[in-house]
Amino acid sequence: MTGLSIAVVGAGTAGLASAILLARLGFRVRVLERVANLQPVGAGVLLQPSGLAALRELGLLAECTGLGAPVGRLYGTTACDGRVILDTRYDDWQVGTFGLGIHRAVLMTSLLDAAKQAGVQIETGVAISRFSQSAHSVELFVSDGRGGEQPYGECCALILADGVRSTLRGQMRVKQRVQPYPWGALWNIQPTPAGMQTTDLRQWYRGCREMFGVMPTGSTHLQRDQRLSSLFWSLPTAQFAAWREAGLDAWKNRVMQLTGGVAEPFLQAIESPAQLSFAAYADVRMQRWHDGRVLAIGDCAHAMSPQLGQGANMALIDAAALARALRPQRAAEVIDWERVFGSYTAMRRQHLGYYRQASRLLTPLFQSNSRVLAVLRDSALYLARHNRLGRYHAATTLVGARTGWLFGAYEEAALCAWRGTREVREALPE
Ligand SMILES: Cc1cc2nc3c(=O)[nH]c(=O)nc-3n(C[C@H](O)[C@H](O)[C@H](O)COP(=O)(O)OP(=O)(O)OC[C@H]3O[C@@H](n4cnc5c(N)ncnc54)[C@H](O)[C@@H]3O)c2cc1C
Repeated sequence: MTGLSIAVVGAGTAGLASAILLARLGFRVRVLERVANLQPVGAGVLLQPSGLAALRELGLLAECTGLGAPVGRLYGTTACDGRVILDTRYDDWQVGTFGLGIHRAVLMTSLLDAAKQAGVQIETGVAISRFSQSAHSVELFVSDGRGGEQPYGECCALILADGVRSTLRGQMRVKQRVQPYPWGALWNIQPTPAGMQTTDLRQWYRGCREMFGVMPTGSTHLQRDQRLSSLFWSLPTAQFAAWREAGLDAWKNRVMQLTGGVAEPFLQAIESPAQLSFAAYADVRMQRWHDGRVLAIGDCAHAMSPQLGQGANMALIDAAALARALRPQRAAEVIDWERVFGSYTAMRRQHLGYYRQASRLLTPLFQSNSRVLAVLRDSALYLARHNRLGRYHAATTLVGARTGWLFGAYEEAALCAWRGTREVREALPE
């Protein structure tokens, strides 16, 4: 057991998952979260086998799979003629594996409970405004409400897990770039209508400019017998105000046309535009993720578009990798943080590099006004779908198991997945 203290800014997936694993290694961990009342918001998320392997390491696999919904494939067709565009199956990676559609509240409740059990000190309503590091420690500051700031304690190392809109990342002496995507998504969670349970994450497209998706999302701790689905609708950020003005019926008509009426039962309970929330996203690039005693993880370090469904997944893997980098130091009285964080960066570089590139490249194929890209996408996916290697490449990308375009597999995922899958199967509700 070490007495060294680590502060984590942000109680999202990345912050809580790392706090749990670091506390279990014997570090004194404080999580500082600016939101006073932690109420998980957001759409359902799809967790991949690689992220499920990290959940397993956290000891939360059974709880999450007991409530989540298995997703066996991503299946997308065109609006006009029902042509298949996307058909990526988890079986093409390893037979019997799948992703897990899960309500964000389930993931966050499980992480929060586990963090408390691990002895993590969680302080809410604390917005860290600045940090300052010396040779021996990192000092934290909060605003004093009068235009100045006041100290908010010291720690040996600081983990920035404060999300894509981090105000602290810029204080790291690391070259970085944040580029907002021009498109975002409207989302909503609905009870799954009777007879519409499926293990497909279903999408419908009109070129690259219209997309509607339905993802099985399972149930929540509070309502275990109600199965839910997450709905997604692509929208350019600049058109959000116009979308609201146009009214709900105009939108419902477009969804009905796009899906050939299939979406109707999902739309019935939506009575006002306010029921749909808009999420904008950005691409975050950092030359490295550490600076002395400070490390950035999760969306703060490498936010990407949700097109590949990897953000929360990568946040969980970041936490597992950080614990792995720190494990040999668990009994040390003094830690060379630069070195430990450097070894974390080395562990994560290729894996995250591939997914950042892939999500940047693929996003305009599903969210843009380009007709050329639509033709390119449809042809490339057709070719990929009709040969074994293409299907394998698509599936390994989906499950979060690639570290390069041609070669490279994220071994951890491959090694853990079959074990994870067996446990997932056992934990699944009948
Ligand atoms: C529409 C949409 C769909 C998505 N679908 C998927 C999916 O299917 N699969 C998937 O894996 N990922 C998905 N993602 C991505 C995923 O949601 C994110 O990658 C993930 O939530 C990032 O977690 P995080 O912990 O890094 O950041 P966050 O969850 O953003 O947490 C950051 C926390 O830091 C706090 N904070 C910020 N600043 C401060 C401060 N100064 N002081 C104290 N606290 C602070 C915030 O309040 C917040 O609680 C989706 C994202 C969107 C927008």
